[in-house]
Amino acid sequence: MNIILLGPPGAGKGTQAQYLVETRGMTQLSTGDMLRAARTSGTEMGKVVADVMDRGELVTDEIVIGLIREQLESVDTHGFIFDGFPRTLAQADALGELLEEQAQTLDAVIELEVNDEVLVERIVGRAEDARKAGQPVRADDNEESLKIRLMEYYKKTSPLIGYYYAKGLLTKIDGLKDIPTVQASMAAVLDQ
Ligand code: AMP
Repeated sequence: MNIILLGPPGAGKGTQAQYLVETRGMTQLSTGDMLRAARTSGTEMGKVVADVMDRGELVTDEIVIGLIREQLESVDTHGFIFDGFPRTLAQADALGELLEEQAQTLDAVIELEVNDEVLVERIVGRAEDARKAGQPVRADDNEESLKIRLMEYYKKTSPLIGYYYAKGLLTKIDGLKDIPTVQASMAAVLDQ
């Protein structure tokens, strides 16, 4: 079973994806994690994307589609959780084609709904917690980048909600509920 987790930055996509990895042996494909890894490994692509990511803008479709293509071809799995991908309609079309090439299907798209004020609190809080714990803080977890990340989400990613609704794949979940409640709602979608 392959699913997409859709939602703005701070909606809880990563937390929920991690839970599905642990409980169901699914494979999380986070383009954000892949891009951050590329940055620290000092590759050419890492250098190209670093500034764009820190500003909170989206990197090009070509780069992220390339990253996902590599993973779909090489990983054998109990199902993929696409976390933070697709983020544009072009990426969504590309994902459909890539899955078809691999004779795979997309089974569900789960939208985690959260209001903007909570997102700002969560993300600024995430940065503060990391700072107190002496851990590295994401360069894009500040209010300025966050505003741009939200704007990118509404301009480029939120049209995917209608796109997947029209394909009959979309389920909305209240991402403001506590983590176990969100987990239970996700399980209900996956076990349908
Ligand atoms: P995330 O960890 O999902 O919040 O992603 C962090 C940053 O990586 C985003 O703000 C973008 O700059 C970049 N990024 C991650 N996934 C994508 C994607 N699918 N398309 C374009 N840019 C992405």
